[in-house]
Amino acid sequence: MDCIFCKIIAGEIPSTKVYEDEQVLAFRDIQPAAPVHILVIPKTHLIGAAAITAENSALVAHIFEVIPKIAAAEGITDYRVVTNQGAEAGQTVHHLHFHILPGRTLKGMC
Ligand code: 5GP
Ligand code: ZN
Repeated sequence: MDCIFCKIIAGEIPSTKVYEDEQVLAFRDIQPAAPVHILVIPKTHLIGAAAITAENSALVAHIFEVIPKIAAAEGITDYRVVTNQGAEAGQTVHHLHFHILPGRTLKGMC
């Protein structure tokens, strides 16, 4: 499959990993919008938030259990968790991912 994040999971593209378990990988964004900018992804390929269902939502719950641990390890207490669904919303990689961004990095959004 021609998916950058699946290739990162497979180790075919290098990344700076900050967390990994059987279901989830987290790594630093290659074009950070802030000093801390981490992407958290499921190891299962889901195209985005629109692909979340009752059958796979436990995986998403797990991601949200992991996010506070990653933030704590990075020393950030105030942060945003962002997912872009669809190109018009800014999604450029069509593998579900959650951005962890400190403070109000995304100025002007809300
Ligand atoms: P999106 O715009 O889809 O919400 O976010 C995709 C993010 O993936 C962008 O912030 C972009 O910088 C990041 N990204 C794209 N390709 C790579 C890559 O090969 N390695 C890493 N670490 N991040 C990437
Ligand atoms: Zn993928």
